[in-house]
Amino acid sequence: MPRIIIDCPATGEAVPTGHRTQDFDLAAVIEPRSFRCPVCHEVHTWRGADARIEEGVAHAAAHGASPH
Ligand SMILES: [Zn+2]
Repeated sequence: MPRIIIDCPATGEAVPTGHRTQDFDLAAVIEPRSFRCPVCHEVHTWRGADARIEEGVAHAAAHGASPH
């Protein structure tokens, strides 16, 4: 299952919220949810509108495999 990610407001990095798309429908997340960011270790709040579904994990792996 793809992970639900947000952009960390402190570093701009995409960070996983700890939830997956099976947990809930993003469009239904209208109340702010908080989680501790694994990148900057601050607590961020997010809503469905702020989040997105992680994609292209295999694509990212292939990207690093380019010949040198
Ligand atoms: Zn953060």
